Amino acid sequence: MGIAPSYTLETEMALPEYNLASARKWDAEDILRQFREQFHIPKVNNREVVYLTGNSLGLQPQDAEAAMNAELEDWARFGVEGHFHARHPWYSYHERLTAGAASLVGARRNEVVMMNQLTSNLHFLLVSFYRPHGKRVKILTEHRPFPSDSYALASHIKFHGLDPKQHLVEVQPREGEHTLRTEDILARIEELGDELALVLFSGVQYYTGQFFDIAAIAAKAHEVGAMAGFDLAHAVGNVPLQLHDWEVDFAVWCTYKYLNSGPGSVGGAFIHGRHIASDLPRFGGWWGHDKKTRFLMGPEFSPMPTAEGWQVSNAPVLNMAIHYLALSQFVHAGMDKLREKSIRLTGYAEKVVQEVGRKYGVHLEVITPADPAQRGCQLSVIAHGKGRALYERLAQEYVSVDWREPNVIRLAPVPMYNSFEDVFRFGQALEKCLSGQ
Ligand SMILES: *Cc1c(COP(=O)(O)O)cnc(C)c1O
Repeated sequence: MGIAPSYTLETEMALPEYNLASARKWDAEDILRQFREQFHIPKVNNREVVYLTGNSLGLQPQDAEAAMNAELEDWARFGVEGHFHARHPWYSYHERLTAGAASLVGARRNEVVMMNQLTSNLHFLLVSFYRPHGKRVKILTEHRPFPSDSYALASHIKFHGLDPKQHLVEVQPREGEHTLRTEDILARIEELGDELALVLFSGVQYYTGQFFDIAAIAAKAHEVGAMAGFDLAHAVGNVPLQLHDWEVDFAVWCTYKYLNSGPGSVGGAFIHGRHIASDLPRFGGWWGHDKKTRFLMGPEFSPMPTAEGWQVSNAPVLNMAIHYLALSQFVHAGMDKLREKSIRLTGYAEKVVQEVGRKYGVHLEVITPADPAQRGCQLSVIAHGKGRALYERLAQEYVSVDWREPNVIRLAPVPMYNSFEDVFRFGQALEKCLSGQ
């Protein structure tokens, strides 16, 4: 497999043929193939599942247990002294994660901190970045954002004594379309103009799989005097990100989806360098206090002069141990190589869905953008006339995909551990389901 120097691949990119031999040949040439062996692949009835739900919960790295056990051992051995004497002292544990996280999101190290969890981080950063005043009160988000984000945004609008029905605005897709056009997003920002306080978009949309043009959205938001924040739950570890250069004001993410760090694992936050030393309001807590004087236990809050100044509580070391390991796999594999494979693997999955749909005369509509630059590894498929029943049949065929109301099957061939053969086997299972066997 030729490794192209950039992410922009020709539309007519080479892909495996839809047969087992071709998929296996591509796997044999995959320079990332050894990573699959580092994960536990779930089994049902003693048979390995075709796991295409890494967008929802990433698989467990086999070394996760050892990584967590090391911290348990240090806890047993040192008790409270582990804060200073553990192999990786707990009082500064989050610092281990900063370099890896910063490289994944394209940030300077002082702009990133791993802390709390996703929605909590969104709340904490909304405290700093959503500050309605005068007529500038509105928040613009995408059509049908992830519910947790909607709830968080609406609750902040209410918290400021305002009405979310009036001030939480969604960009709508055009009639008959599922995804959003960048030009329409930018036009909506311009239209709201000086009424707009904040644009809060996802990086990759959870339902459609659309990868938004983060740089263009941030630039337009700034042009009208608004802030721009992003929820990267489905973007981090999936698509290339350059938050610093794209001038994003803030971003949040979770680590249990593409980042394979385990259910409910630690979240991440990015605050652009230009805001760090500013006097943005924030909720304080002792872990955000300057670490040089944190343990003097003084009454006056003096925040760390980095994103770490937004921390509140001491860090969840046990799940951070797994996150450290998971991040190391990303650093080792290289996001550029993962992206390269991802574009091909997803292109192949799309081709398989289309071939199978044609063969059985079923309209399998991929609503995720066809342009690789506008998507990650997720494909969202509407199986016209089949719906949820098809999803349930696929599960019986040992395929793990997911169903999202009202009518989408999501599948995510993850470049870290999925193979071309997985996608081929998915195609075979899909055929079996559609042929009524
Ligand atoms: C997964 C996801 C969440 C989940 O939030 P938690 O706080 O981690 O439970 C929120 N928002 C988006 C966009 C997501 O994809």
